[in-house]
Amino acid sequence: MNKIEVENYNMILWTVNDYCPFKCWYCPETTWGGSKDTYSWEATDKFLDKLFDHFGKGYVEMSGGEPTQWPHIHKVAQKFKENPDWNLGLITNLGKSVDFYKDLGVNNILASYHPNVIDTDIKRKIWFDKVYELKDYVLMSIALMMDPKHFEHCLDVLDMLYYPKLGNDRINIQTSRINDMENVQYQIGYNKQQEDIWKNISIGKAGKDSIRNDWGHDLKVTVDDTEVHEGPWDFHGWIRDTINKGDNNFKGWLCDTGMTGVHIAPNGNIYKGVCHGSYNMDSTIGNINKPEEIQWADKAMVCPYDMCFCGFDLAVNKKRI
Ligand code: SF4
Ligand code: SF4
Repeated sequence: MNKIEVENYNMILWTVNDYCPFKCWYCPETTWGGSKDTYSWEATDKFLDKLFDHFGKGYVEMSGGEPTQWPHIHKVAQKFKENPDWNLGLITNLGKSVDFYKDLGVNNILASYHPNVIDTDIKRKIWFDKVYELKDYVLMSIALMMDPKHFEHCLDVLDMLYYPKLGNDRINIQTSRINDMENVQYQIGYNKQQEDIWKNISIGKAGKDSIRNDWGHDLKVTVDDTEVHEGPWDFHGWIRDTINKGDNNFKGWLCDTGMTGVHIAPNGNIYKGVCHGSYNMDSTIGNINKPEEIQWADKAMVCPYDMCFCGFDLAVNKKRI
């Protein structure tokens, strides 16, 4: 691979808080042990106006911690409903009620399934009942966290999701490998048998209605000279496969990080991508509380990192130099 080209794609990843009641064992405490709320609605409102103005149109994916625990989520959702150039998506553990999600009215939901918390048959049924009810109101995707401690459970869920009677065009499915990360307290690993199974797990099983089919502009992606997708969801599948296979080291490549999106951290710090804040917390380009001082990226940079571990970062133009 020498080139990834992503056209018509502005994406903002917004980690609105660092609090989550699930406390998954493989998730660093810095992701769930913090605050539900770290900046005001007034600051958020002004920042969003600046963001809309700078990028023009695009897609914001809101995550956490757990974003549904963030007090301003309904006001933000309302602001997006009033702006046709922008779509809003939500990454959630689906811990809230169906009515909560229906009221929000976001464009799509990526629901992460955590077998260490959804650990009984009845909890599993309740969780999937929500998915099947919500699919009629919002484009639904499931990220199945392939927890090595609950691997059989994950395979059962995969069987269930792929069983034709339960398959549904409006539900996309992805399997998420839980990677070692430098700042993660626990070492996560798959045993040999699990690694062998991984080789046969396809993440490409997805409905035709993508979570990202409806973000108001046409996404086009080419890797080298080949268009990698028939639609945005296939591109998302390509990203997951690339990370799962470990084919995601672009150190020394020229990368448009920050030119087509930013990552916002729970304390309001803004980074050109998820990589920058993870590898170097001081690489911030501004903060939500001072929108007029943000130093928006205006040129590509040479990648200094060994691993492009986040799908958001992967979906940015890059070329080998
Ligand atoms: S649900 Fe997600 S954010 Fe919450 S603890 Fe688990 S992995 Fe972390
Ligand atoms: S790790 Fe960051 S700088 Fe490197 S290729 Fe990925 S997005 Fe670009």
